[in-house]
Amino acid sequence: MYQIIDGKKISAEIKIEIAKQVEEIILKGEKRPHLAAILVGGDGASETYVAHKVKACEQVGFKSTMVRFAEDISELELLSKIDDLNNDSDIDGFIVQLPLPKHFSEEKIIRAINPKKDVDGFHPENIGRMTLGLPAFVSATPFGIVELLKRYKIETSGKHCVVLGRSNIVGKPISILMSQKAEFANATVTVCHSRTQNIKEITKQADILIVALGQQGFVTADMVKNGATVIDVGIHRVKSDKTKSGWKLLGDVKFDEVAEKCSYITPVPGGVGPMTIVSLLKNTLLAAQNKIEF
Ligand code: NAP
Repeated sequence: MYQIIDGKKISAEIKIEIAKQVEEIILKGEKRPHLAAILVGGDGASETYVAHKVKACEQVGFKSTMVRFAEDISELELLSKIDDLNNDSDIDGFIVQLPLPKHFSEEKIIRAINPKKDVDGFHPENIGRMTLGLPAFVSATPFGIVELLKRYKIETSGKHCVVLGRSNIVGKPISILMSQKAEFANATVTVCHSRTQNIKEITKQADILIVALGQQGFVTADMVKNGATVIDVGIHRVKSDKTKSGWKLLGDVKFDEVAEKCSYITPVPGGVGPMTIVSLLKNTLLAAQNKIEF
């Protein structure tokens, strides 16, 4: 019988832990942690993500600031705002919601963020530090996955972890974290991508299978070893006549058939997704407390 890795429950517990720490900060007479989010343009999905982040800040007692720009602002204007936030001592951390409109170089924008305030963990300095095992802001989704493995006490040391996907925000960082010489890591990691041959032969060897492909229902039961832990990062909004909204969320894993073979599995929704936002809150708290030594 498999056990669900309940990201919704764990993220709610973490929010309570963060809220308690905020209360202690305020009792000590220190300032409230403050997260800012920059949103450029009116992309519907980005609006929703940022709204969730702002709401989560309120839930734990953080201050939050939303900075909105029209889609056609210039790169210079955006860089100038980033400079303001870098130098605003009241702001502990900030994010620039991606993707940005096409006329921006995302790489240039991310590099402009002060790494000490880069609570998304996308700045090359944070990625480099994380890779070297130095204190760093770790990007939210991989951070959340490691937290789930920790809280469910899933053994990773010496296990074979197969990561499907090599994106800069999920596949690459989680593969590095899982192979680190550290607690809740020490795994033997194989990374697969669109050029990998015989994926099924590789996934069948995984004790821990982390799937971040963006391909709905890609992982089927015949690709999974008995007793494996499966972490599904994929999110797909698909039409459904069985829900009130007319939509439902599905992952990269065919949950119904794969779950039976697993010891642990994350559902979609309610698995990795809720952990991403609390990881951003955790990073903001770390920034407010200067816990990452640069
Ligand atoms: P991405 O940037 O599109 O990267 C996808 C990766 O999967 C790439 O490395 C690609 O290989 C590989 N890939 C795609 N199709 C493949 C196939 N058929 N066989 C083998 N490899 C294949 O995606 P991402 O940003 O990592 O996101 C992945 C999924 O996670 C999406 O559904 C996204 O919405 C979701 N997501 C969820 C959260 C969350 O909070 N739960 C956070 C971030 C992302 P190449 O490198 O060779 O192109």
